[in-house]
Order: sequence, then structure tokens, then C-alpha cells
Amino acid sequence: MKANYHTHTTWCDGKDTPEAVILAAIGKGFDAIGFSSHAMLPEDGTAWLLTPEKAVRYAAEIRALAEKYADRIRVLCGVEADYVPGGATPDRQAYAAIAPDYIIGSVHFVLAPDGARASVDESQQSLAEGIRAHFGGDAQKYVRAYFAQVREMLEKFDFDIAGHLDLVRKFNTRHPYFDESAPWYLEELDLTADAVAKSGKTVEVNTGAISRGWLDDAYPSVAFRDRLRARGAKFILSADAHSADAIDCAFDRFGGCEAFIPSPVRRTRP
Ligand SMILES: [Zn+2]
Ligand SMILES: [Zn+2]
Repeated sequence: MKANYHTHTTWCDGKDTPEAVILAAIGKGFDAIGFSSHAMLPEDGTAWLLTPEKAVRYAAEIRALAEKYADRIRVLCGVEADYVPGGATPDRQAYAAIAPDYIIGSVHFVLAPDGARASVDESQQSLAEGIRAHFGGDAQKYVRAYFAQVREMLEKFDFDIAGHLDLVRKFNTRHPYFDESAPWYLEELDLTADAVAKSGKTVEVNTGAISRGWLDDAYPSVAFRDRLRARGAKFILSADAHSADAIDCAFDRFGGCEAFIPSPVRRTRP
């Protein structure tokens, strides 16, 4: 089973159209391709986020393509839904209008004690500025707030796949800002692995930081994957692709140790 369920297109911040991605997936011998457009922040000033109205058009296009290519590949319509406390929720109910085949729940913004939303992955500069301005310059406090928010998401909402669980590592190799072997950090991994196990949700092994040159490893880290595996977590390999050529980036490095799961998704349509 060759598949990728974490794919961005021109509907959000991806480079290629859904149809171009489908053709690339067919060319690579994929059995399935799933789309996961970035979805809905409450204030939504960002052009590439799905508004409720745009989400309906997005889903209609993906479903039409699914029919067009049904004899060659299975095409799924998902979303990558943000969790922002007090704002966006990665919950099936919030996306009922488009009945996505699956929902990836992700934290891209950490709610700070002062109510600000500090970006996790936009840029190294915005990360550093967020920690300075909203967490008193305390990186540990920021990272712990990130994981607390991830755990809250796992506990509270109805979604399928936990997206890039340790996204806070994105800039930590090129621009180190905390020690990944520190006891407090490993404690966060343990607590979060516990929350995953309790939720029963699938964890993606996400190669997106490899394709974009930020890391030489997937999310979650080896130490985190070990903890998740020890608790019986289910894994799915995903590319977090932002272009058609990246839909299987570094999959050969993880295919042997991480399971491809043929149907991690609950079909919500007949
Ligand atoms: Zn993401
Ligand atoms: Zn993504």
C-alpha cells in the first residue's frame, strides 16, 4: 500500500493543483492520495486558509477528481485542521458541512498567557520573537505550553491523525533554542505519548521537514517514536507535501520501520 494523506495544494500553501498531484501519485504507483488543505482559523485574514465557503468548493473539486480517477487511484478529501484554544477546533462537527474523509489535527500556534498566538513554524525569526514577547524569553515555558496544547487537542476533539506532534523541533537543529535531551523535555514526550495512547488516535511520521531541508529526521523524533511505540500507538507515514514531487519524500527511509496503514480514515460518506 503506497499512500500519502498529508498533501497541500494551490487550495492553500501548496505549489501544485490537486489534479497535478493526483497524476504524480499515479506516476509513482500510489494506491491512494489524500488531500489535507489547511483549514479555518477564526480571524482568518490569511488568503490560503479554507473559509467555510471555500471549504465547500474545495471538497467539491476533490470529490469530482476522485470520481474522474476512480479506476486508477483512490482519492480522499481531508483537512489539516488547526487547534487554537478559544478559536479553531479540529473536530468532525466543525467540518460537518464538507464531511471530510479524515481530519489531521495540528498545532501551529501556541496560545500565550497574555492571549497572543505565537507561531510555531512560520519562521525562526517569528518563533524567537514570539518567545521573547509572549513567554518572557523562556523557551522551556513556550515548548511546555505547546505540548500542553497538543495534549488538550488529543483529549478534547474528534479527529483522526495527530499532525507533526513535535513541530517545535523544526528550527531546533539549525537554530537550537532548547535541549532535546533535557529531562523536562523527555517528560513532555512521555506525557504526550500517554495522551496519544489514551486517545487511540493515529500518529503521523511526517517527513515534511526533510523535504524542506529543516531536519534530517521525521516528526516525531526517534526518542518520541520509541515512547509512542512502547505505548502501542498506531503510525502512518506522511509527507506533508507542498508540491507534487514531494509526496513520497524520504518514504524509503521509514517504510521498513513504520507501518503503512491502508485505512486510517473513517469513511464518513457511504
Ligand atoms: Zn502542519
Ligand atoms: Zn501540513
